[in-house]
Formats: sequence, C-alpha cells, structure tokens
Amino acid sequence: MSDLPSPGTPPGAPPSRLARRLLLVHAHPDDESINNGATMARYAAEGAHVTLVTCTLGEEGEVIPPGLAHLAPDRDGTLGPYRAGELTGAMKELGVTDHRFLGGQGRYRDSGMMGTEQNARPGAFWAADVDEAASHLVAVIREVRPQVLVTYDPDGGYGHPDHIQAHRVAMRAVDLAADPGFAAETGAPWRIAKVYWNRVPRSVAVAGFARLREELAEPGRLPFTRAAAVTDVPGVVDDEVVTTAIDGTAHAAAKAAAMRAHATQIAVAEPYFALSNDLAQPLFTTEYYELVRGRRPEGGRETDLFEGVDAAQDEGGGAPGKMADEARNGAAL
Ligand SMILES: [Zn+2]
Repeated sequence: MSDLPSPGTPPGAPPSRLARRLLLVHAHPDDESINNGATMARYAAEGAHVTLVTCTLGEEGEVIPPGLAHLAPDRDGTLGPYRAGELTGAMKELGVTDHRFLGGQGRYRDSGMMGTEQNARPGAFWAADVDEAASHLVAVIREVRPQVLVTYDPDGGYGHPDHIQAHRVAMRAVDLAADPGFAAETGAPWRIAKVYWNRVPRSVAVAGFARLREELAEPGRLPFTRAAAVTDVPGVVDDEVVTTAIDGTAHAAAKAAAMRAHATQIAVAEPYFALSNDLAQPLFTTEYYELVRGRRPEGGRETDLFEGVDAAQDEGGGAPGKMADEARNGAAL
C-alpha cells in the first residue's frame, strides 16, 4: 500500500502566499480555546491559514473529572499526552488543521504555578533559554509566514510562568525571524506585520460577572455555585487599552465545543465555564486584543486582525522582485 500516491498538498508544503495567515502562541493545551477559540474558528471558516503553536503539554494541570484523576502528575503522570489528545479534539471543533508543539511534542514541560519546585525541573519551559526556545518558533514563522501573531502580554495574562515565557519566546521570535543574520538554515527572513496580546476590556468583564452573579442567585440554574472575580480573568485592562474586537458570535458553539474537548481542565455551561477551582466565569465569544506591533487603528477599534494587511505588504517578507522592494520601502508597519 506504500506506493499509493498521497492526496492533496504534501505535509509541510508552505501555504499560499497571498492567503491570510494567523499564528497563535500559547502555553498549554486549552489556553487557545479559552482565549481565542472564536477568533480561530472564525478565521479558519473564512479560509485563513490558522497555525497554533503550544509550548508545553500542560502536564501539571489539575484534573477535573474524578474518573480521570489517575492521569495526574503525582499518579500515572500521563496527563501530558492525554491533553495532547484533547487539543486534537479541540482543533477539530475549531476547524484548525495546523497545530504544532514548540520544538516537537514533549520538548518543553509545564512549569507548574509560580514558586513551585516544578519551575526549575529539567525540561521545564520556565527554565528554558529564551533564544533557544525562540529558534524553534522562528522556523515555524519562516515556514508559515504569518502576517499576524497573537500571544500574551508580558505578565502572561495572569503571572503563570509558562504564559510569561510564551510571551518572551514569541516576542523574541518575532524579532529573530525578521533578522537576516539569524539561523539562515531555517529559511528566508520574515517580518510579521501585526502582533497582538490577548486582552479583556474591564467593562466587559465586569458586566459578564454581574450577569453571572444574577444567574447564580437562581437556585439550580447553573451547574456552578460560586463565581470567580474579575481579577481572576487573564489580560483584563482598562477599555481604552483594547485596540481590537473580534466578533465570534457566529462561532460561539465551536468555541464552547473546543473548550469542552479539554474536559480534564474545563467545565462548560454556556455562556459560562469553570476551571479546576470550580469558580464560574463568563465565556466570551467576542474576543479582544491589544495591537502592540503594526499600524494602530485610526478612530475606534479594529474588527479584523488583518486590517491594513494587504497583498503588497504580504510580499514584504523577503520575496525577490520589484513588488517586494516596493512593499519593503513603503511598509509603515
Ligand atoms: Zn495555560
């Protein structure tokens, strides 16, 4: 059977140059669905090439379903590969086909919560050399050539070491990928036009929790009994910091299904969910961002991550020829 021709595009073939390409960099399986599930589903449905890079397997996560408690790191220690399977299921729900682990599956290990002994154990992502970890991401960037990258803010949204490290690695890789002097063997330099950090406007978070508390006051309405706090939500900032809102309402079901696929980590009851602490929080289907590299919107928030990215700029990452030169010279991004 091995002589059958392989159908379609060969694995690893670069996607179409003029297509919109979005790269997301996350710390653990489940972060992508919680933060960006609606965005990923929307762009995938619109035909954009969506690439997810997950930095660890989330081996240190707490397991919610009692029947799966044996996966935990202090028991079987098989949570990592199990969560890789959950992530595969989530990607199916979102319609995303290009998913990779940074440096390959198992290259970096979940570092646990800040201040724990897991932070420094061999292979922990938190203990990784940033440039070494970034070099793996540079290879992905130069292969996929995304116009847009999404990751966390410098605090990782909420201070988890793997989230902080994912931010550092992503931002470093953005610079290194554009540097012609860095690792030429990984491909031609590529400059990412726009970089975003995940955000939630404070007013949106406050309103979501107000609605949640009202519903929690009605006995039996929700499968949760207590609410988290606004301060538990990663990336909450003053509204004026938020530059971009992606309306994923049409993909709300896909986002919820993707979150449900991470059953060891998330309990979902739309439009709410809870992590292993069993504290309910809103499930946002409009997702928010802060543009930190690239042209800032004039007046009002952007409603498209690719706003201002056109075909000419798309050619600006190193392709030879007049068009590429014009793009490089004219690029104000
Ligand atoms: Zn995480």
